[in-house]
Amino acid sequence: SDALTLDAITKGYNPGKPSEVQVLRGASLSVRVGEVVALVAPSGAGKSTLLHIGGLLDTPDSGRVLLAGREMGGLSDRARTEARRGDVGFIYQFHHLLPEFTALENVVIPQLANGTAPAAARARAMELLEMVGVGPRASHRPAALSGGEQQRVAFCRALANGPGLLLADEPTGNLDPATSDQVFAALMALVRGTGMAALIATHNLELAARMDRIVRLDQGRVV
Ligand code: ADP
Ligand code: ADP
Repeated sequence: SDALTLDAITKGYNPGKPSEVQVLRGASLSVRVGEVVALVAPSGAGKSTLLHIGGLLDTPDSGRVLLAGREMGGLSDRARTEARRGDVGFIYQFHHLLPEFTALENVVIPQLANGTAPAAARARAMELLEMVGVGPRASHRPAALSGGEQQRVAFCRALANGPGLLLADEPTGNLDPATSDQVFAALMALVRGTGMAALIATHNLELAARMDRIVRLDQGRVV
C-alpha cells in the first residue's frame, strides 16, 4: 500500500500577474510503505512546492493527495491539521531547534504536545537520539552541538511522534560533505529502524543513489 499518493498535481503562483509561474503541471508520484524515495531536481524546479503539498502545508490547484490511502481533498482545515500532525514528519535544511532547551527536551516537547506521558516521551526521545549517535549529548543545548549533531537531533524530533511518512527538504544541504555523509547515514538508520516511508528532496546524486528509488522533477512533472 501507499504511504503517499500524489495524483496529477498542478500548482502555480501569482495567477494573472507578470510574476505568474506554473510550477507543477500534472505531477504524479506514489511512495509505498517502508520505501525511501529520492526527489531530484535543480533548484527552482518545484521540489519544496511538491513536498509542501504532500505534507498538507499547501494545497494544489488541482489533483489529489492521499495519505495512507486516505483522500485529503475533502477534509476540513481542522482534519487536515490533525492529519499533518499525526501522519507526517518534516525535516528542513535548517533545523530550527529550540535554543533554550536541551537536545532531549527538543525531542520530548512535540510528544508532550501530542499527549504522550512525560516518562514515555523521555524514553522514546533517548532511544531515537541513541539511534543517531547523539545519546551522549542529550543534555546539551543546540549551541553546544556541532552542525551535524544539531541536524541529527532535528531528525529525531521529526520522528518523535511516529509519523508514517517523512518528508525531507535538502536535509544535508547546509553541511560539509563528510558531515553530510554521516548525517545521511543516521537518517537512513532512523527511517529503516522505524519502518517509515520517506520522500527526500536532494540535488546530491550520490546520496540519492543510496535510496530505494530516484524520481526526477522535470517541467512540472515527475519522471
Ligand atoms: P525547489 O524546491 O525545487 O527549489 P520551489 O518549489 O521552492 O523549488 O520553487 C519553485 C518555483 O516556484 C520557483 O520559481 C519559486 O520562485 C516559485 N515559488 C515558490 N514558492 C512561491 C510563492 N510562495 N510565491 C511565488 N512563487 C513561489
Ligand atoms: P563540526 O566541525 O562538526 O561542526 P564542532 O567543531 O562544532 O564540530 O564540534 C566538535 C565537537 O565538540 C562536537 O562533538 C560538538 O558537540 C562539541 N562542541 C562544540 N561546541 C561545544 C560547546 N560549546 N560545548 C560542548 N561541546 C561542544
